[in-house]
Amino acid sequence: MPTLVMKFGGTSVANLDRIRRAAKRVGVEVAKGYDVIVIVSAMSGKTNELVGWVNETSPLYDAREYDAIVSSGENVTAGLMALTLQEMDVPARSWQGWQVPLMTNSAHSQARIEEIPTDNINAKFGEGMKVAVVAGFQGISPEGRITTLGRGGSDTTAVAFAAAFDAERCDIYTDVDGVYTTDPRICQKARKLDRIAFEEMLELASLGAKVLQTRSVELAMRYKVKLRVLSSFEEQSDEAGTLVCDEDEIMESNVVAGVAFSRDEVQMTLRSVADRPGIAAIIFGTLSDAGVNVDMIVQDISEDGRTNMTFSLPSEQVSRAEKAMDAIKGEEINYENVVTDLDVAKISVVGIGMRSQSGVAAKMFKVLSDEGINIKVITTSEIKISVLVDRKYLELAVQALHDAFELEKAA
Ligand code: ADP
Ligand code: ASP
Ligand code: MG
Repeated sequence: MPTLVMKFGGTSVANLDRIRRAAKRVGVEVAKGYDVIVIVSAMSGKTNELVGWVNETSPLYDAREYDAIVSSGENVTAGLMALTLQEMDVPARSWQGWQVPLMTNSAHSQARIEEIPTDNINAKFGEGMKVAVVAGFQGISPEGRITTLGRGGSDTTAVAFAAAFDAERCDIYTDVDGVYTTDPRICQKARKLDRIAFEEMLELASLGAKVLQTRSVELAMRYKVKLRVLSSFEEQSDEAGTLVCDEDEIMESNVVAGVAFSRDEVQMTLRSVADRPGIAAIIFGTLSDAGVNVDMIVQDISEDGRTNMTFSLPSEQVSRAEKAMDAIKGEEINYENVVTDLDVAKISVVGIGMRSQSGVAAKMFKVLSDEGINIKVITTSEIKISVLVDRKYLELAVQALHDAFELEKAA
C-alpha cells in the first residue's frame, strides 16, 4: 500500500470537534487506499501552558524534566485521534515516541532525530491497521529518557516519518491555507504561494516564519520528501495549499520571496571588552555551553585595546545568557558592563533572486529609513538580509517592506 503522512497542528486538534474533523480527512485518504501515518501536536495552548508550569517551578530547569512534562500534550491528542478513528470504524492505534521507538540524541529540549525503525508500525499495517497515530514532537534518547524536538517539532516528526516510510507525500495541516509571502496575521496583503523553494522556506523558517519548523524543511530537502502545507479547515483537493519543492520546479518567482520576522529577540552588548585573540571564542563558547542560541553578532572598531561586542538571542534565553556572562566577567574578558535591550525584533527579507540581483539591501534600508525606523544590527547572507529594530516598529516594517517589494503581486 502507498503511505501518506498527515500532520495536524495544535489548532487543528484544539477540541474534540476539530479532532473529528481531522479524523474525517484521514478517513478520506484511507478510502483512497493509503496506509496513513498521522502525526499530531498537542491541543493549541497546551504546550505553552506546560512550559509555563516548568518555568514557574524551576527557572533554570533540568531539561530532562522539561521534556518529560512538555511532551505530554501530544500523548493526549494521539490517543483521542486513535479513538475517534476507531469510532469511525477505521482501524487505528496510537504510538508515543518511545513505542516506535523514535530515537534521538540526548540534546534535551532540542533533540535531533537519529533513527525511526519502521518494523513495529509496518507489522501492524500488515495486520490490517490502516492508521498509525503518532505523538509528534517527542522521542527517546540513548539513555532511555524522553526528549523533545524543539518548539514546532511535530513538523519535523512528520517529515522524518515521511522519509523513513518512503511516503508518497507529507501533508502539514494547519490554520492557514499555505505558506504566504509573510505572516497573514501581520499583513493583510500577504499572498499565498503555490510553490516555494526549499532554500527559501528554510531561511523563512529559521528567521521566524513558524509555519514550518526549520529542521523539517532541512529533512524534506535532504530526503526529497514531497512536502505540502494546507488548511485543516477547508475541503481540500490534491492541488491545494503550498508545495515546498526544488528551485527548478518553480517557473517564475519574485526577487524577494517573503518577509519573515521574529518578535521575541533581545540585544545584548558587552561594553569595553579586551580586544585580543581568543576573546570572542570565550564569550560565544560560554554562551553556547549555556544553551544560548546567539544569532547576529557585531564587534565595534577597537579603541585603546577595548571594544564592544553586540549580539542577539531569543528572549526566553536572556537569564541563561546573563548568568553565563556574569560567570566570566572577572576572568580574562574583564568587560565593563552588559547593556540588554529587551524590546527588539528581527525582520528579514528572503529570496533566491538576490543571488543574481543587487540593490535589495539598499532598497530595504531606504524603506525602513523612510518610515523613520532605526536599524540596530544588520546581517546578510546570499539569499537574505536581516535587521534588528525596536519591537514597536515590527508591523510597520513588515508591511512597508511587503509593499515596497510588491509581494502581493505574483511574478
Ligand atoms: P500549527 O499549530 O498548525 O503547527 P503554527 O502556529 O505552528 O501552526 O504555524 C502556523 C502559523 O504560522 C500561522 O497561523 C501564521 O500565523 C504563522 N506564519 C508565520 N509566517 C507565515 C507565512 N509566511 N505563511 C503562513 N503562515 C505563517
Ligand atoms: N506542541 C509542540 C509545540 O507547541 C510541538 C508542535 O506543535 O509542533 O511546540
Ligand atoms: Mg507549528
